[in-house]
Amino acid sequence: MMQITLPLGFLGTVYREIRQALVDMGEMFGLLSQPAEIVDAPNAPDLKVPAGEIAFDNVHFAYDANRPILKGVSFTVKPGQKVALVGSSGSGKSTIGRLLFRFYDISAGSIRIDGQDIRQVTQTSLHRSIGVVPQDTVLFNDTVEYNIAYGNPDEGQEGVIRAAKAARIHDFVTSLPDGYAAKVGERGLKLSGGEKQRVGIARTLLKNPPILVLDEATSALDTQTERDIQESLNAMGQGRSVITIAHRLSTIADSDLILVLEAGEVAERGTHDELLALGGRYAAMWERQSAEEVEVAPEADGLGRA
Ligand code: ADP
Ligand code: MG
Repeated sequence: MMQITLPLGFLGTVYREIRQALVDMGEMFGLLSQPAEIVDAPNAPDLKVPAGEIAFDNVHFAYDANRPILKGVSFTVKPGQKVALVGSSGSGKSTIGRLLFRFYDISAGSIRIDGQDIRQVTQTSLHRSIGVVPQDTVLFNDTVEYNIAYGNPDEGQEGVIRAAKAARIHDFVTSLPDGYAAKVGERGLKLSGGEKQRVGIARTLLKNPPILVLDEATSALDTQTERDIQESLNAMGQGRSVITIAHRLSTIADSDLILVLEAGEVAERGTHDELLALGGRYAAMWERQSAEEVEVAPEADGLGRA
C-alpha cells in the first residue's frame, strides 16, 4: 500500500495532478516500479475533449521488446458509450487502460481522443480528462472532506457534499461522529473496501472527467455493497465515455460494446446478445459465470480476479 506523507499544500496543481494520476494508476494496476520516462512533445497543446471519442487503431505494445503484449488492437468508444474489456487474466485488459493514460508509449498504431493522438498533447491535460476508479482507492491520512476534495480542490465544501451524495457515501459520512472532518487513512478511521471505493467515486465525480476507466473490483465485496457501488458507478457513467475492465460479466452485459481479449488480440466483439448468439468464448464465459453465481454463497463469487 502506497503511503502519502508529503505536505500536499506545498505542491503545485500540476505536480499534484500527475502524482494523483500515478497513485491512482499505481493502485489500479498494482504497479510499483517507475514506468519508462514519457515526455511531452515540444510545444504540445492541451488535449481538448468536446465529445469524448476514444480510438485505438492497430495498437501494438510490448513491455519488453521480445514479448509482444498487444498485437494490433483496434476499437472505438463513441462519445458517451460504455465499452467493456473482458478476457482471461493476462490477456491485456489493464494494459489498455495504462496505454490510454500514456503510462507507456505504444510501438505501432495510434491512440486518439477526439482525433488527437495522445502522444501529441500534454500529459497534464490527458490525465485531467481521464478519471480512473481503481480497485482499491488510496486514502490520504486526512479528513474525509480532504480525501474527496482532492479530486478538484476548487469545488469547495458544497461540491464535496454533492459528489458524496452522488457516490452514495454522504449518509455514511454524516453518521460519523466527526462527519466530513473525520480522519481516515492508515492513521485514522479504517473504512471498508466498499466505503473506500465510494470515496474514490466521489473524488472522481468531483474531478468530473469526460472519460472514465473503471476497474471493477467487486468480487471482494458483499452483494449489497456491490449493488450500491454498481449503482454509483452507473450514475457516474452518465454522459461520459467509459471503459470498464470487467471481472463479472453480469455487470457489463448492457454495455454498448464488449471486447473479448485473448493473448493481446480482440478475439470477439459485439453486444451481449450478439456475443451470446455467436456461441464462442464470451458465451462460454457467461455460461460458466451464471452457473457459478447460482452455486456459490452470496459473499464469495468464486470468479477470481483478472
Ligand atoms: P489483464 O489485465 O488482462 O490481466 P495485463 O494487461 O495486466 O493483463 O497484462 C498483460 C500481460 O502483460 C501479462 O502477460 C502480464 O504479465 C504482462 N505485464 C503486465 N505488466 C507488465 C510489466 N510492467 N512488465 C512486463 N510485463 C507486464
Ligand atoms: Mg488486469
